[in-house]
This record gives sequence, C-alpha cells and structure tokens, in this order.
Amino acid sequence: MAIRYVRKIGDEVLRKKAKPVTEINSHILTILEDMAQTMYLNDGVGLAANQIGVLRRLVVIDVGEGLLELINPEIVYEEGEQVGAEGCLSIPGVVGEVKRPKKVKVKYLDREGKEREIEGEDLLARALCHEIDHLNGVLFIDKAIRFLDEEEKEQVKEV
Ligand code: ZN
Repeated sequence: MAIRYVRKIGDEVLRKKAKPVTEINSHILTILEDMAQTMYLNDGVGLAANQIGVLRRLVVIDVGEGLLELINPEIVYEEGEQVGAEGCLSIPGVVGEVKRPKKVKVKYLDREGKEREIEGEDLLARALCHEIDHLNGVLFIDKAIRFLDEEEKEQVKEV
C-alpha cells in the first residue's frame, strides 16, 4: 500500500470521465487500498480514483461507519433534497453550499465482483453524489449555490 498524491484543481485528470473497471484484479485492489490510505491520511470522508490520477470508476468512502469500497458505482434512485456545506481534498480551503438529494441508492460491485446496492441518507448521500460526480469530471464548485467566507468556514465541518 502507498499514499498517493491528491491531484488539485487545475489538473486536467479531475475533468476527465473515468472508465468502468472490466476486471477486478490485484492492480485494482491495490489502487482501492491506496485510495483508502490516502483518504484517511488526509482526513477525508471520500476519494475518487481521478483524484489520485487514475481514470477508473473506483470510489472509497468512510463517513464514520466503516470503509466502503465501490467499483463502477451508479446512482439508481434518488429522493428529496438537502443543502449543505461541502469541501473537497482536491480544492483545499474552499467550502460551498451544494444542493444534493436527501437519499440515494447506489448500485456497485464489491472487491469480489459481487453486485451490491447501498442506500445513503444525509452525509452518506452527499458523499456518494460528490464522489460519483468526480468519476464524471464534475466538481462540487460547479454545483455550489454559494461559497462560504472565512468566518463561516470555521463553524462548518468540511466533508
Ligand atoms: Zn472531492
């Protein structure tokens, strides 16, 4: 396992669409493990493969309920609406309010290649949407309805 460098805004890899994983081999599992390690080191709640310069549809998330590894994640259902503050490891120091679904259902493959589904609400729904956006080259700043100033940022926990 290795810590990977997190690509920052301006790096074109963040604007590219990641390709589906066609074979879950040891290379893919190593990338997932590196992503998890990199996410934890940076105190993030999620990371998409684009952020470490890999254009494959891989996401890791941990909102405090354990590590989720998602291969080829896809939103299959969404419901409601929430507006909340969001940040991104690729855009340090910026926090913006983003409108997201209140609840989402995501279909994905686990590391054994088994098809699974996860339902997320609130922070988990937000993290799932944020990371899947990354796989499509979309950043939260594209969707932010308002950016927070320094004083407001101190009162908000970044996600
Ligand atoms: Zn991000």
